[in-house]
Amino acid sequence: MAEQPPATRVYLPPDGGPREAGPGHVLQLVASGTARTRAAIANATGLSRPTVAQRLESLFAAGLVRESAETESSGGRPAKVLTFQASAAVVLCVDIGEARTRVAVADLVAGILAEEVVAVPVAAGPEALLRRVVATARALLDEPEVPHAPLAAVGVGLPAPVDFATGRPVGWSVMAGWDGYDVRAHLGGVFDVPVVVDNDVNLLTLAEHRTRWPDERHLFYVKAGTGIGSGIVSDGRVNRGALGAAGDIGHARLSGYGDPACRCGNAGCLEALAGGWALARDLSGDGSAGEIREARDVLTLVRRGNDDAVRRLRDAGRTLGEAVAYATSLLNPRVIVIGGMLAATGDHLIAGVREVVYQRSLPLATRELTITTTQLDHHGGVIGAAYLAADSVLDPATVDRALARSDGETRTLRWVLA
Ligand SMILES: [Zn+2]
Repeated sequence: MAEQPPATRVYLPPDGGPREAGPGHVLQLVASGTARTRAAIANATGLSRPTVAQRLESLFAAGLVRESAETESSGGRPAKVLTFQASAAVVLCVDIGEARTRVAVADLVAGILAEEVVAVPVAAGPEALLRRVVATARALLDEPEVPHAPLAAVGVGLPAPVDFATGRPVGWSVMAGWDGYDVRAHLGGVFDVPVVVDNDVNLLTLAEHRTRWPDERHLFYVKAGTGIGSGIVSDGRVNRGALGAAGDIGHARLSGYGDPACRCGNAGCLEALAGGWALARDLSGDGSAGEIREARDVLTLVRRGNDDAVRRLRDAGRTLGEAVAYATSLLNPRVIVIGGMLAATGDHLIAGVREVVYQRSLPLATRELTITTTQLDHHGGVIGAAYLAADSVLDPATVDRALARSDGETRTLRWVLA
């Protein structure tokens, strides 16, 4: 048997050790507001003034950073102020939903510049749907409100578990015909830029975290719609787990509630008890409430004040609360955000969630806990896709590589991953 090399617990950087901050790192300091002057960059990085100037020159040439003409005094010596130029490039955002897909163009801080909905169901299959997405995206990039900036990346959300490393949907999902489909290769082949693909609930989680709770390190997001899914922000980053299945609580089994059949083929799953489709199933079984086919019909009844529908939505909140209470014990989040269609009608769902989470959790886990509903409407998915794409573009190593290849003379920038 061949001798195995000894295991090591020491992380060895592939390039052999620390090196000085490149332009990508300097860009991060400016974009995050950590450093707004040349002196502050020198301070934060230990780079010499001439090296800071050199790094900034390449960022100026790419249009990513601008320096004010006038000096400003903010306590210390007057200095020229550096600002990140979010419109130096644009990203394409694609939020694929079961019934419709939202396509948008955004700047590098997820500001949506143009948006359109494509009414093709996911069941139409990847080729047909992505063909429409590409045509819509091209039209949006030509809209007058979109600046003539290079397209830098594409962010895509899918209503399925996604292997984040390969960008492919995996395992059981509502997306028949999509299993393993290479969305990245399809869109990358058309637009010739990097494509990042993630699960749609992770994108909602990212959007919620960045727009509303940027300073919170630990957040748990639950999407309660037709199905149920969740996303985890752990120590400031979205935690996708080993293969991208983290947070897939909709198909966790809860005992003690009977074992209704689930759409995944198992029985007793959380979403078979408390998902929008399960509520529609239960209410249509009553026969008294008229024709109830989907989650949307349940919400219409709730808005009309139908007692049975309101009671079932509250019960669904308590059942969901059981799963959220486990997550609270496991993750100790500071903020729990409930989104999705079922959270959009008053406090019925969230009241049930709160009741159970506070009852079941230890005081330390809930001492500083906020449980709230999302404020992002149906744009959450494309905003999350924009952050995902922009993050990949602004990654320091990516910026360093792209700038090394850009043509400083013509001041154009070509974003290409090595
Ligand atoms: Zn299931």
